[in-house]
Amino acid sequence: MALIVQKFGGTSVGSTEKIKAVAERVLKQHRQGHKMVVVLSAMSGETDRLIGLAKNIQQIPDLREMDMLLSTGEQVTIALFAMAVKEAGFDAVSLLGDQVRIRTSNLHTKARIRNIDTALIHRHLDEGRIVTIAGFQGVTEEGDITTLGRGGSDTTAVALAAALKADACEIFTDVEGVYTTDPNICQAARKIDRISYDEMLELASLGAKVLDIRSVGLAKRFKVPVHVCSTFTENEGTWVVEEDKIMESMLVSGVTYSKNEARITINKVPDQPGVAAKIFLPISDAGIVVDMIIQNTRAGSLTDLTFTVLRSDYDRAIRLLQKVAEEIKAESVTGSENIAKVSIVGVGMRNHSGIASTMFQILAKEGINIMMISTSEIKVSCVIEEKYTELAVRALHDAFALDKENLPIEEAV
Ligand code: ADP
Ligand code: ASP
Ligand code: MG
Repeated sequence: MALIVQKFGGTSVGSTEKIKAVAERVLKQHRQGHKMVVVLSAMSGETDRLIGLAKNIQQIPDLREMDMLLSTGEQVTIALFAMAVKEAGFDAVSLLGDQVRIRTSNLHTKARIRNIDTALIHRHLDEGRIVTIAGFQGVTEEGDITTLGRGGSDTTAVALAAALKADACEIFTDVEGVYTTDPNICQAARKIDRISYDEMLELASLGAKVLDIRSVGLAKRFKVPVHVCSTFTENEGTWVVEEDKIMESMLVSGVTYSKNEARITINKVPDQPGVAAKIFLPISDAGIVVDMIIQNTRAGSLTDLTFTVLRSDYDRAIRLLQKVAEEIKAESVTGSENIAKVSIVGVGMRNHSGIASTMFQILAKEGINIMMISTSEIKVSCVIEEKYTELAVRALHDAFALDKENLPIEEAV
C-alpha cells in the first residue's frame, strides 16, 4: 500500500464533468488500496477572473485582501471533488491550507511554505478517506491566508509529498509531460522522458510553466521524484529526477519563453557609487523580484539602467521608481510590457562554446532584434519584442534539432 500525492491543474478540473472524471481516476488507485492525497487548482480561468475583479476596484490591489480573494478558487474545486467521490460511494474530506496548517511566510501573493502539519491528513487517511487539499494557499503564524504565487499548486503538491514522505508525487496537467518546448506553440516539440532537477529548474525559471519553479526546488531539496503526466491519457509522462550520465551528454534540451516580464529603464542615472543600491533597495523591500539587469555606460557621468520585473509587479515598480528617480536626480523612468524572454537550456552547454552565438544568428536570420541578453552555465536568454515570441521559439527549436532525440555533443556540432 503506497501513499500517493496527485495534483490536478486548472484545465483538468475546468468543469464539473472533468472533476467527476478526475475523481474516477483517483478512485482507481484508491480501490487498489493506496492512500490518496489530491491537490487541486482552481478551475481554469478562475484565478484570472478573480484578479480582474480586484483590478476593477483597485488598480494596485491590497495584497492581503488579494490572497483572501484568490484562495477562494481552490476552495470550490476541492469541495466539488469531495462531493464527486462521495457520490461514487467512497469517503473524502476537503481541507484548506489553514485547516491542514500549511504555514507560510507573510509575503502576500508570493508566500513561501515553512512547514506542514501532517497529523490531520494522516488521521483522515488512516480512517480510509481520500484527502483533497486546496493548492496554492497557506496561512501565516498570525492566521492570515496567503497564496504562493501563480502556478503554486505544484509547490503545494511537492511540499506535501516531502512532508508526508509519499511514495509518489504525480502532477497531472493538460499535456503529456515536459517537452523540448511548449507543445501548444510548436508542433515539433518532443516529450522528454527524464530530466534532471537542475535542468527543470532552469526551464521553469525561464517560463516553462508546466511546473512551478519552487516545486522543482523543493523536489530537488527533498529528493522527491516527480512524474508529470496527462490527465486525459494513460501514457507515461516525464520523470524529474537527479542528474545522470545520459543527461549530461545533451547539448540543448529545451527552448522556453516567458511573457510574464516587463522591462524598465531608468534613464540618465548619475554614475556614482551607491546609486544601484538606492534603486534596488526599495524594489526588494517591496517584494519585487528583479531578473536581468544591464547598465550601459554613456559618455560623461550618466548611465542608463535597464532591468526586468514580473509583469504583475510592473505598475508598482514604476510608481516606486519614479520617486527614486527624483531622489537620485535621474532623468526619467520608461518601460515596456510588450516584451518576451526566449531562452535555450541544456546542461551540455557547460563545456561547450558557441551556443550563444548560434542562438543570436538564428534570431538575426528571422529579423528579430535582441534587446537584452543574459547567460548562465546552462542557459542563454534573450529579451525580444513579444510579437516575435512564437517565431523565435519555433526557429530555435528547429535550428537546434530538438525534434530529434538529443544527439551527444560531438555529433550535434
Ligand atoms: P496546469 O493548469 O495543469 O497547472 P499549466 O497551464 O500551468 O497547467 O502548465 C501546462 C502548460 O504548460 C501546457 O499547456 C503548455 O502550454 C505549457 N508549457 C510551456 N512550456 C512547456 C514545456 N516545455 N513542456 C510542456 N508544457 C509546457
Ligand atoms: N490557481 C492558481 C493559478 O492559476 C494556482 C495554480 O493553478 O497552480 O495560478
Ligand atoms: Mg500550473
